[in-house]
Amino acid sequence: MQYLSTRGKTAPMQFSDVLLMGLAPDGGLMLPESYPQIDDATLNKWRSLSYADLAFEIMQRFATDIPKADLKDIIDRTYTVQAFGKADITPVRTLKDGIKILELSNGPTLAFKDVAMQFLGNAFEYVLKQKGERLTIIGATSGDTGSAAEYALRGKENIEVFMMSPHGKMSEFQRAQMYSLMDKNIHNIAIEGMFDDCQDIVKALQQDAEFKAKYSLGTVNSINWGRILAQIVYYFKGYFASTENNSQKVSFCVPSGNFGNVCAGHIAREMGLPIDRLIVATNENDVLNDFFQTGKYTPRTADKTYVTSSPSMDISKASNFERFIFLLTEKNGEKLSELWTDVNSGKGFDLADLLGDVQQKYGFTSGKSTHADRLATIKAVYESDNDLLDPHTADGVKVARDVRKDGEVIVCAETALPAKFAETITEAVGQITIPRPAHTQNIESLEQKVVVFANDAKLVRGLIEQNVEAK
Ligand SMILES: *Cc1c(COP(=O)(O)O)cnc(C)c1O
Repeated sequence: MQYLSTRGKTAPMQFSDVLLMGLAPDGGLMLPESYPQIDDATLNKWRSLSYADLAFEIMQRFATDIPKADLKDIIDRTYTVQAFGKADITPVRTLKDGIKILELSNGPTLAFKDVAMQFLGNAFEYVLKQKGERLTIIGATSGDTGSAAEYALRGKENIEVFMMSPHGKMSEFQRAQMYSLMDKNIHNIAIEGMFDDCQDIVKALQQDAEFKAKYSLGTVNSINWGRILAQIVYYFKGYFASTENNSQKVSFCVPSGNFGNVCAGHIAREMGLPIDRLIVATNENDVLNDFFQTGKYTPRTADKTYVTSSPSMDISKASNFERFIFLLTEKNGEKLSELWTDVNSGKGFDLADLLGDVQQKYGFTSGKSTHADRLATIKAVYESDNDLLDPHTADGVKVARDVRKDGEVIVCAETALPAKFAETITEAVGQITIPRPAHTQNIESLEQKVVVFANDAKLVRGLIEQNVEAK
């Protein structure tokens, strides 16, 4: 299988090259030339597979340049009970009102990003070894992404990680999760500034072509194709867990920010998985809700991007959205370039004439949830089901309840566990003991490893030079 860029100006590539990439050289995102089609008989065969075996069946159709035995080994080492706590990896539970919860957050950092990132860590290590290369991952995080990346890449050969976070701005739990890693290849850097300052440092280093080449800089942000691919698997798994046969359809409701998670659902649907609707749930940062309701997409400026109590969905524009718009506009690279010129200038675009396709042909709908909604949903579900939802998942459940049609089975993606967001949980239900997986029980009392730097890219550059051998 070959991969093409959404902008149409990058030579076709193989999976292992795409895996290590961020943006394509032409500024677009990489996508497979077509989505493999899964027929009814194959779905039947897959119904009873273990998570790892299902992942192998799906991924081998996309990662065609990795020998099958090697791919199988990477997957088998990734999706284990040890890493994900449960044999099913992503089991489904059902609330009293019939809404189903797809548990995606039982991995090491208690957020759905682990499902893809744990795979990426092992896949990166494998591909780097094959190519005889090394990689210096630099990243900025305000919480979830950074910790998922660190837990995925800790101790991996030929990979060094430099993760910047805003000094004093993360929760005690999030700090403990990241800073308690003692692995030699993990470097935590607390920057005296905001998250945006961290991101600016990453950009500054990335834009220095000479430095980038000399130290093999790379990232693991949400546009990485390997992450999307790994996420496709749990839509199949969640579908099988929620149905008895393939004549039944289910809808998925996905708390969304950068459109990475629901993009994987969209691809699963394109592959022939019987998904009825894909429900995009947003918080107050509702650029995606606006699009799916009106066809108009307008990125937010920084001062209109709100800091909310579902912080991992606080986005100004959705970095993976281009992957869907590419298909919607019939794979027209030139058109895509034009649309994204308008996105980057802040103007956005209007595809109202295609809204019928968006909703009917591609099955998308959406809804929005606010701080008050998420608190009310956490409280209501706690009272009715004695079940605690994290704030992001609560946004999903709120929207699912709003849009549910008679008889519709809706599976909500559980994108984090409540233990990560204790403050909001307490605000919603009062002082209670929030359950924590065993491995995070006393995490705040562990020794921590972090350097505090002024907001200056030069300091980070120096740290990389000290720790990574130049090419
Ligand atoms: C990253 C994240 C999201 C948003 O996912 P996208 O793939 O960016 O749409 C939602 N909830 C949580 C808890 C997350 O960490």
